[in-house]
Amino acid sequence: MTMHSFHAPDIAPDTLVVAAGRPERAPDAPVNPPIVLSSTFVGAGVPGPGERVYGRFSNPTWDPLEEAIAQLERADLPALVYASGMAAVASAMSLVPAGGVLVVPRHAYNGSLGLVGDLATRSNVEVRIADLEDTEGTIALFGGADMVWLESPTNPMLEVADLRALTAAARAAGAVTVVDNTFSTPLLQRPLELGADIVVHSATKFMGGHSDVILGAAVTSQVHLRERLHAHRTLHGAIAGPFEAWLTLRGLRTMALRVERSERNAAGIARRLLTHPAVSGVRYPGLPEDPGHHLAAEQMDGFGAIVGLRVTAGEEAAERVLNALRLWLPATSLGGVESLAERRRRHTGEPESVPADFIRLSVGIENLEDLWVDLSQALDTAL
Ligand SMILES: *Cc1c(COP(=O)(O)O)cnc(C)c1O
Repeated sequence: MTMHSFHAPDIAPDTLVVAAGRPERAPDAPVNPPIVLSSTFVGAGVPGPGERVYGRFSNPTWDPLEEAIAQLERADLPALVYASGMAAVASAMSLVPAGGVLVVPRHAYNGSLGLVGDLATRSNVEVRIADLEDTEGTIALFGGADMVWLESPTNPMLEVADLRALTAAARAAGAVTVVDNTFSTPLLQRPLELGADIVVHSATKFMGGHSDVILGAAVTSQVHLRERLHAHRTLHGAIAGPFEAWLTLRGLRTMALRVERSERNAAGIARRLLTHPAVSGVRYPGLPEDPGHHLAAEQMDGFGAIVGLRVTAGEEAAERVLNALRLWLPATSLGGVESLAERRRRHTGEPESVPADFIRLSVGIENLEDLWVDLSQALDTAL
């Protein structure tokens, strides 16, 4: 299928989410790309470049989504979509050679940290753990590094990393930089523009936006890196199903509206949490008193929809709060239209430096007053 394309740099991100990845306009053409359910494609002889050949190598339903994500991230090459965010993470981490050196944030997504542990034991990768709020201390770990893995804000602790300084120092040290941009989405932060080599996403979260699909993506503007990621996806086989790819593009169409509303709600919730007597601490980069606020204001176009809080009375009280919620859902994941709350340390894979009383909120698009009434009555059970 040919795609209608235009010069993306001229177009604002909140237009791109709607306009990118449309079929070529022609009389009677559909305005949405079709779902192509075919495991193989007609062809004979030695396949030429760009030929589809087989459904694990390429699928026409991936193309519009890969085009749209690339335009949003201001990448020069199409993104690559995967079966999950973790498949994209695994593909990017596969660029670290056996016996190589990998720098990771102490509070990266716990699945990414799990995979790092696997690389350390099975491929003898040297892992260096960084506190991303300490820019100098992080840069001091870059000597001899093959890859620097970054997340900003981090999941779940919402620490903000100086992406420009860290990617520049990593490049000077000869390391490939990867930024997991799931929390921010390309609407709020474009790491390739800040100097990153590769961006990965759990499109399961804000891109899909409705908690009904699992999908991942990786984006780069460098041909040799994209070729290696593409080869990894093809050979390891963690490809996106055509329906999941279609559903994610369907979700992407409203991402600007959803993120805008969720962010406004998150700012309101964070501000109110500061005054609730059951809460001992709040993390949200949008709060002027947050340690990451200035950096976030500099490198982001917004502060996102994830808020962290600590419950003064401790872990059991935090569980009581979650059980007392009626509108918010106590569930993992984030970035959907519905508001979710989770005590992250319920997962054994979560680093112990995440406090046991820490609750991560993914603020949805409901009415702010309704969200606050429910959350504050639940927090009252922890007084
Ligand atoms: C959820 C998440 C992932 C993993 O994505 P899946 O789609 O669940 O495989 C990776 N990074 C971050 C920051 C996430 O929140």
